[in-house]
Formats: sequence, C-alpha cells, structure tokens
Amino acid sequence: MEQNECKIEILNKYIAESSYIVFFGGAGVSTESGIPDFRSVDGLYSQKYKCPPEQIVSRSFFMNNTSEYYEFHRSRLLHLDAKPNAAHMKLAELEKAGKLKAIVTQNIDGLHQAAGAKNVLELHGSVRNNICINCRENYDVSVIVDSEDIPYCDCGGIIKPDIVLFEEQLNQKVINAALNHIANADMLIIGGTSLGVYPAAGLIDYYEGNKLTLINKTETHVDSRANLVIYGSIGEILGGVRV
Ligand code: ZN
Repeated sequence: MEQNECKIEILNKYIAESSYIVFFGGAGVSTESGIPDFRSVDGLYSQKYKCPPEQIVSRSFFMNNTSEYYEFHRSRLLHLDAKPNAAHMKLAELEKAGKLKAIVTQNIDGLHQAAGAKNVLELHGSVRNNICINCRENYDVSVIVDSEDIPYCDCGGIIKPDIVLFEEQLNQKVINAALNHIANADMLIIGGTSLGVYPAAGLIDYYEGNKLTLINKTETHVDSRANLVIYGSIGEILGGVRV
C-alpha cells in the first residue's frame, strides 16, 4: 500500500504538469460498474447457448441468426441500469477542467458519456446507437429494449446495433481521431486493459511523451515501457486523484 501511495503522488504530479491528457480504457473500466466481459462463459450461458460468445457477436451470425443474436444482445450486452463509477466521474471532471482532451475506449456501454464526458472515441461503437442496415436511420436503444425479437425500421430493414462485430472493420475515422490525440498527448493514461487486443497495443506506439501511465489489476506486456505502473482498481486509483 505504501508503495501505491508513493505512486499516486507521482500520478498527481503528472496530472498537475499536463495540459493534454488522453485516457485509453478497456473492459476493466466497465467491470467496476458491474458490467461483465461478454466473453465470460458461465453455467447459465452453457445451458442456453451452444456457440461461443465470439461467434455470436460476429457479422455472419448477426445476418444469419438475427433472432438468436438479439436474444444474446439483450441479455448479455445491454446493461442499461449500470452506473458510471469513480473512474468515469473523475475523467469527466478532468475533461471539464480542460486537462483531459479525449477518452479512447474499447467499451460499448456509453458510461463515459453518462458521467458527463464529451469527447469519447468508442473504438467498438456503442449499444446506445442503432442503425437501420437498409436506410441508415438512427434509433435509440429504447427501440431495441421495447421491441420483441428482431427490431425493424419503418422502411422494413433490420435495425443493427452500432457496434463493431467480429468480421467487421473498425471505424477508420474514430481510429484516426484517437491516433491524433495520442500523438499530441503530454500524458497517456491506460487503464483496465491488458492491451492484448488489436488495435490497443498499436495505439500506444503513437505516444511520444514521457508520462505513460498504466493502471491495471495485473501486469501487462507493456509495463516495462511505461513511466508509471500502478496495480489496483481503476476506480479507486483514478477516483482519488486531484483535479
Ligand atoms: Zn430503414
């Protein structure tokens, strides 16, 4: 604990010295709001689904088994009653103070915006946005919740959640915006991700500063490249920093 207190002082010092902070977050940021990683397979899951989660959350599965996809989506990907945690709140506060310029996230739950953050780059999209695959009309998530089985647009097209499924390309505009912010950042904070999933690992190569900070519960393969590594809960650690 003493070691962490010393590191948190360094974290506060970095933040005080920085004017262009970028945060990059993974699943660990959301799990602290009670949102499980959709890849986790439990007993209940095994009873209900015969396919692995990665297969269900794929373009071909969505197109060919839309009904089954939506059953999974509603029960496993929608967590609309989840609330932002201390990490989401502190990041929104840092943005409001003009210190944080962008949040890059792999999460699809919209909790950063729920905390009040404005510049959120969602690499994998958001379950809160939904688009007709035919006419591109936008639909709120309430349409997905309130409809039964497959939700249809007024034009007759299927409404698809605006998330990046397996077999689909990431949105290049979102990636480019994230790369630009990271290249301009004087401080890059990475939290709640082991950086194992593309494109996370590649993104940090664009950072040129000397305040690369990792906050994770476990070690990652980039720890040795970081200027500061803190092991622990992202909510507890970020939640405690001074703005
Ligand atoms: Zn339509």
